Amino acid sequence: MVTQSMTLPASLHVPPALAEQLFSHLFPGDGDEHGAVIGATVVETQRGTRFLARRLYLAKDGVDYVPGKRGYRMLTAAFIRDRIKDCEREGLAYFAVHCHGGTDHVDFSRDDLASHERGYPALLDNLEHHPVGGLVFARNAAAGDIWLQDGRRIELDTTVFHGGHRRVLQSAPAPRPAADPTYDRQSRLFGDRGQAVLADQKVGIIGVGGAGSLINEYLARLGVGHLVVVDPDRVEISNVPRVVGSRRRDALPWLTKSGRPRLLRRLGQRLATPKVDIARRVARQANPDIKFDAIRSDVTLDTVAASLTDCDYVFLAADSMQARLVVNALVHQYLIPAVQVGAKVQLDQTGSVTEVFSVVRPLTPGVSCLWCNELIKPNKLQEEALTPEQRRQQRYVDDVDVHAPSVITLNAVAAAHAVDNYLMSTVSLVPEGYVERWMRFHPTAPEVRDRAIYEVPRSDQNCSECGTGGRLGAGASRRLPTRITSTS
Ligand SMILES: [Zn+2]
Ligand SMILES: [Zn+2]
Repeated sequence: MVTQSMTLPASLHVPPALAEQLFSHLFPGDGDEHGAVIGATVVETQRGTRFLARRLYLAKDGVDYVPGKRGYRMLTAAFIRDRIKDCEREGLAYFAVHCHGGTDHVDFSRDDLASHERGYPALLDNLEHHPVGGLVFARNAAAGDIWLQDGRRIELDTTVFHGGHRRVLQSAPAPRPAADPTYDRQSRLFGDRGQAVLADQKVGIIGVGGAGSLINEYLARLGVGHLVVVDPDRVEISNVPRVVGSRRRDALPWLTKSGRPRLLRRLGQRLATPKVDIARRVARQANPDIKFDAIRSDVTLDTVAASLTDCDYVFLAADSMQARLVVNALVHQYLIPAVQVGAKVQLDQTGSVTEVFSVVRPLTPGVSCLWCNELIKPNKLQEEALTPEQRRQQRYVDDVDVHAPSVITLNAVAAAHAVDNYLMSTVSLVPEGYVERWMRFHPTAPEVRDRAIYEVPRSDQNCSECGTGGRLGAGASRRLPTRITSTS
């Protein structure tokens, strides 16, 4: 079933905790070979097949991983049988893992390949619907020999170890691409390889109002190759001071300005330029070759959320609890890193400013979670699910979203830090051991040192969203918390 339509290239994605366990097991410093099994969810996308590491089984040296009859070491038949059963039960692909010496290059030995040829046809029979394969790691390289149910045999292209310090491993370093003079100045910081990585990226932006429109501009100018931009709204005249690339005439002020008959104003609002179209205009000006998907809809709809499941990264710049719920689930379920950005000006009852801040909250699969940090409020979720009419009846005067104070510089602080963070980890300029922190910037609070507060977010192992027993790495085996798109 799943394997019939399997697309290339194939990549393996590993959440941070699992990556750490695997690495310390394979490379304890003794220079010897060690073994393990990874059970992985299979996600088919138009950009290739993504294997999401969901279970890790470490083979005990001398018990499960023993001297081989033909090769150097091997997993015991009993260990393999039990792991195949585990994978079958959970609907996962089975990958036998071992390590070799060396650093930046790795490949299977002749003995390794011979053992795959002897063993994998039978394993494919036992694991009825999913691929089986072998993975071999060096400290800084990974290769995979994957056998599909339809008889094909494919190579693993990349392995991504997620985390603050994200690592992308291949069997050998990628060849140096040709330099593009357009990006000469930034290539001097992250190299032509870094620039090529950006050109290969698919990045989602949810919401292209104040912060999102800046993020769109930054990513397009940096040379990110493919943007998916989601926003249901059309531009209004009061957005123009913040939405990058918007023009006064996009908001049709001659129809929508106050004093015009209600009918004309409504018509103007319905004909004003969609924010995603403005974002596309800005992106194309920066990079005419950019692939740009403009989705004038809501990320909380299942079809829209599904179009993000093959992104390399997602920026959440829409401030609704439902959007937070969906993007947070996407991060953990599909192992796609993201960041939530926002800026807020809080007023008290009398209308005086009580607080002004910008926030940047990087979301790392299995590590940082909006749910665990109580940033998804169940009562707000319920409130958002009501129709405007119901909301009026229940006297929610929380229409502050429309009239809340908002300023371009507050958005710019959040957007710049968020994109900076994405950029540095994508082009591998983040130091090893880096722990991702959440940031709050307070431009008017004298008691806040350097105007910034950093915190390491909480995460609960038992969380249904980010925990190993929950969505983490579950892929399409679970439903995202979305609404079903009606076809009418
Ligand atoms: Zn080997
Ligand atoms: Zn959580």
